[in-house]
Amino acid sequence: MSKSKLKDPTDTPMMAQYLAIKKEHPDSILFYRMGDFYEMFFDDAREASKVLGITLTSRNKGEKAIPMAGVPVRAADQYLTKLIRAGKRVAICEQVQDPREAKGLVERQVVRIVTAGTLTETEILEEREPNWLLALSPFKDRMGLAWLDLSTGRFLVTECLPDRLEDELERIDPAELLVPEGWAREKGQEGPLFPGVKGNLRQVPDYDFNPEEARRVLQDFFHTSGLEGYGLDAGMMPAAVSAAGALVRYVQETQKTELGHIRKVEIFQRGNRMTLDRATRSSLELVRTQRDGERKTSLLGTIDKTLTPMGARLLRERVLAPFADMASIHYIQQGIQECLEEPTLAENLHEHLTRIYDLERLSGRLSTGRANARDLLALQQSLQHLPNLVTVLEDARSEILYGLGQQLDPCPDLAAKIQERLVEDPPVTLKEGGLIKDGYDAELDELRSIGKEGKDWMNRFQAEETNKTGIGNLKVGYNRVFGYFIEIPRNTDPSRIPAGYIRKQTIKNAERYVTPELKEFETRVLKSEELSRDLEYNLFLELRELLADQVQRILEAASIVAEIDVVLALAAHARKHSWVRPEVGEGRELLIQEGRHPVLEATLREEPFIPNDTDLDPPSRSLIILTGPNMAGKSTYIRQVALICLLAQIGSFVPAKSARIGLVDRIFTRVGAADEISRGNSTFMVEMKETANILNNATRRSLVILDEVGRGTSTYDGLSLAWAICETLHDQIGCRTLFATHYHQMTEMADLLEGVHNCHVAVNEWGEEIVFLHQIKDGGTDKSYGIHVAKLAGISADILDRANEILERLEQEGLALKPGMFRKNPGRNMRQLDLFRPPADRLLAEIEQLELDNLPPVEALLKLKEFKDKYT
Ligand code: ATP
Repeated sequence: MSKSKLKDPTDTPMMAQYLAIKKEHPDSILFYRMGDFYEMFFDDAREASKVLGITLTSRNKGEKAIPMAGVPVRAADQYLTKLIRAGKRVAICEQVQDPREAKGLVERQVVRIVTAGTLTETEILEEREPNWLLALSPFKDRMGLAWLDLSTGRFLVTECLPDRLEDELERIDPAELLVPEGWAREKGQEGPLFPGVKGNLRQVPDYDFNPEEARRVLQDFFHTSGLEGYGLDAGMMPAAVSAAGALVRYVQETQKTELGHIRKVEIFQRGNRMTLDRATRSSLELVRTQRDGERKTSLLGTIDKTLTPMGARLLRERVLAPFADMASIHYIQQGIQECLEEPTLAENLHEHLTRIYDLERLSGRLSTGRANARDLLALQQSLQHLPNLVTVLEDARSEILYGLGQQLDPCPDLAAKIQERLVEDPPVTLKEGGLIKDGYDAELDELRSIGKEGKDWMNRFQAEETNKTGIGNLKVGYNRVFGYFIEIPRNTDPSRIPAGYIRKQTIKNAERYVTPELKEFETRVLKSEELSRDLEYNLFLELRELLADQVQRILEAASIVAEIDVVLALAAHARKHSWVRPEVGEGRELLIQEGRHPVLEATLREEPFIPNDTDLDPPSRSLIILTGPNMAGKSTYIRQVALICLLAQIGSFVPAKSARIGLVDRIFTRVGAADEISRGNSTFMVEMKETANILNNATRRSLVILDEVGRGTSTYDGLSLAWAICETLHDQIGCRTLFATHYHQMTEMADLLEGVHNCHVAVNEWGEEIVFLHQIKDGGTDKSYGIHVAKLAGISADILDRANEILERLEQEGLALKPGMFRKNPGRNMRQLDLFRPPADRLLAEIEQLELDNLPPVEALLKLKEFKDKYT
């Protein structure tokens, strides 16, 4: 804040009040309510005018000028959004006293601090995504995490080891991240805390993270004497408890309101979920694309046919953490199957689901006391469809749909309560009346009738006064400034104006008068209007509180609606794209007939998508080495297999003619390395870190997808590493693996290891041209056509000529590899990999190749010396 402007801060009582409040909120922009505006002053005004593009004006002139900027209260949401997106926090300071009752300055208070992680505004929030506020607590050797979506009341905790932290953070993707001050200071010295996390980082006092203090805060918050009911018995998960406590305290401090929709804290269970790490989530483009972060062409964006926001959020959660148990998968599959077999059932469900609004976020707004009459109306309209859903589901056969119908509380009493009280088209404002139906409340009706009677009274009064005075064009009227008046034309004979008329105002052609009787009437009418507005407001608040008390029921109904929605959405997508029900079992096979890439098949426009089979069945077929030219479709294929498995394990049908999938516990991918430089890692370093993660964590139930591992270093290093990695995956882990590579030498492995098989992507050569067939066939290949692809990409002809020349030379002379390195037929293009055999084997191979009949004795001696040099 600029000091010169604060020379005389207590300038006016209002400025003194402003400064006192601002002092309490130095790191927030203060929205100071003045009538219909939120005003900002000093640096807040400067900053906001820049971010919001609003005019910077000034209060007072000259020396005492104070920079000022304001936004209208009615449009505040849109300005809030911009400020929050720009990483700011906004403290909303309201008039908390009725100006009519104020003696002097109206009392004001900060009623809420809006931060990125505590938003509840449905207009601001991304409808289909959660909005997490996360607290992180390092405690001993563990990291505690607690995350809350204030808009829906969902609250979770977990603990992890420090090396898993970034991965967890990126999975949760919080909008705001709270960390202990001291820890941040220490860590921050090593560079940015979490480069991969986009949310706003906020440091909070270390004391808030103290586990005992945190436990106490949580107990108070949930009104319990212990946390056993949530699985957090004394001494359990101290790091998570510490994070949860700090988080609750932060929410209480910023929101200053009831938070009744946060009913419990759940321990995030990984047990029956498939684990997907950051690399896998990002390379499979599960919820956003790698290149531009778009949701639309991600897996989720492609398959999301949900009709409600809570359904959309549930589907997102499933895609990021699919099931790892058969029961859950079969349960959902049955529902999808039923929707496909019973189109009428699906249509009926569709019809009702489309009319249900965001019950979870409406609940959040109810509990935090932020729901307006339109929110309540949206709630009523949504609740109205629940009984219909229950009826439709009574005819369902599948365990899931029938069961959900039985569990669904149709909440008719709540819908009825809103309906009987609220008008059908209420205004957004709550204090100006027009909310409550006629006939609902006798007192309100009475007050309103006074207003209505007033009209008759005025007509009567006008007639009487006209009669009494004989002034033909006497009128009774009303304006906001003077209230009710009698208007008499200027040219009227003054003697006809009764003595009791008191002159109030002179206008161009008339004089306006009042009488004691008219004043008395005015007081009665105005009073009744005021009373009626107050009464309406109170009746509304009563309704809102009454509903807030039932929020748990609404939330439970919302979660059932979300489940139904997800089943219906998956069925809709399966129908549209002819997906089939996969057989998911306890085995370890992965047999896919005519599989397709779920995103590409939906987005490819110019050419049809070519389906391909997959046949993995450990131990006899556990690892496929996939070779093929650039652009052939290797990456597409291996990702497609992973996505089919993932879809199967969220219970979805899959893009294939048929599929048999043995449960997968984790999918690992090592594909590409976008975005990594910003984390301070070289591309090759990332590649190796991710590969190390796979080798350390994959189990025999995992699916591993490797794309061109080893590419990031020299050919020899890369090839050697790739070979050794595959050997380990095959010999020691025994998981299902797809390995796409340009190292043709890798195909040699199929001759040496039982479970390794070669496949390649076929192309057709037409003279100079090649045609990509995108078909996976058995056997290896040794062609890359890289130069051809470069030509397609527009590399100039002279560079291509030169590249071809070099290529020919390399093909003739080899990559300066040592002689004798290739077994069998060295003339063949496919280089055989003696490099990876033990020296004795290689020596034997070389002896085998000697044609002794044609070898002069001297040469034989020289050969012997060469062997000695080389192998001893
Ligand atoms: P590189 O080795 O250069 O990375 P690649 O073999 O991994 O290439 P992809 O990136 O998988 O090739 O595929 C290249 C393009 O081919 C894709 O963008 C896609 O448009 C198309 N394609 C891949 N597979 C198919 C398919 N089965 N049917 C139709 N088009 C396909």
